[in-house]
Amino acid sequence: MVAIDDAASAPLVRGAEAAIGASEPVEALPMNDPIQITLPDGSVRIFERDTTGMQIANSISPRLAQASLGIFVNNVPYDLSTPITQDASVRIVQWRDEEGKSIFWHSSAHLMAEAVEALYPGTRFGIGPPIENGWYYDMELPEGVKLTPPDLDKISEKMAELAQRDVPYIRIEKGYEEAIEYFKEKGDWLKLELLDGLKGQAITFYQQGEFTDLCRGTHVPSTGKIKFAKLLSIAGAYWRGDIKRPMLTRLYGVSFPTKKELDDFVKAREEAEKRDHRKLGKELELFLLTPKIGGGLPVWLPNGAIVRYALETFLRRVQQRRGYDQVVTPHIGNLELYKTSGHYPYYAESQFPPIVVDDEQYLLKPMNCPHHFTIYNSKPHSYRDLPVRLAEY
Ligand SMILES: [Zn+2]
Repeated sequence: MVAIDDAASAPLVRGAEAAIGASEPVEALPMNDPIQITLPDGSVRIFERDTTGMQIANSISPRLAQASLGIFVNNVPYDLSTPITQDASVRIVQWRDEEGKSIFWHSSAHLMAEAVEALYPGTRFGIGPPIENGWYYDMELPEGVKLTPPDLDKISEKMAELAQRDVPYIRIEKGYEEAIEYFKEKGDWLKLELLDGLKGQAITFYQQGEFTDLCRGTHVPSTGKIKFAKLLSIAGAYWRGDIKRPMLTRLYGVSFPTKKELDDFVKAREEAEKRDHRKLGKELELFLLTPKIGGGLPVWLPNGAIVRYALETFLRRVQQRRGYDQVVTPHIGNLELYKTSGHYPYYAESQFPPIVVDDEQYLLKPMNCPHHFTIYNSKPHSYRDLPVRLAEY
């Protein structure tokens, strides 16, 4: 393996670089051990084996290298520091890419964990995935520690301080026993339980600054990327979503590469909170939500019923104008209907269980379309009748 410190001096001219200063004309030498890297535009470039994503980014442009957060090699995400060992198609991701944001936010979760560990030593960490807007991390805080909103600002500040250090996220391969030893010594039963599910798999740790985590990756090159982070909220979450397991503390946060993006996000969030349907529903007496009736089961109050009626009337008018016929179907349907439609096996776990009456099983209607197909199938049609438009509420 030949180390290339600065890939901006493109690997293809490595031989020529060595010849600088000699009186002979500079001539490109054949490269040792080349691999072909296919870029998203289909162009193919030759690099030395073990070239990293960062070196590829640098060979394209230093600005791209600066903006790069990770690389997909044959559609699998990798750190930019991972050597590429064979011919491959690659795609470098940046903040503007969804995958880039995920890598950025997941890396932020590690940084937040480092901040939490610094402020509350003895915290145990569960999982910290990226989500739609930011990340969360589930943790068990030391006995007696209970976080309040001002603590979130303290953790955000600590994150900013740690980001200043701009240290790399380092991937460390571990033997299974060694990994167990590490978390035993740390007393982190959450990670030990996660490790239990990883028997026989390659174990990797990631270390940044003072913090080491069990993680598969991928991460941004260094903590300096995460300059503008903010913790958003605290919630309780059962370990592994199991009501019989301990309740952990879940911290939500979000981060951005620029201050403006963070400020805009915080402002938009405040505006959205003002318009939260749970808040407005109560204030305007639109609907009532009460555990006496059941979570997520709104009762429409007179004001809400007026709004609802207006919306339904509007909808009916628009649908009529567009040639829809109205139908009404029952709220439950025979389970066989959803097996025929193909919905049942896929949605079985997210639905209410079947209602059993005599020997038949019925489902609370999860969608209208199987009923509509049944209406369509109830008599022969000519292709001239298509499209058939059915609407219901
Ligand atoms: Zn990670």
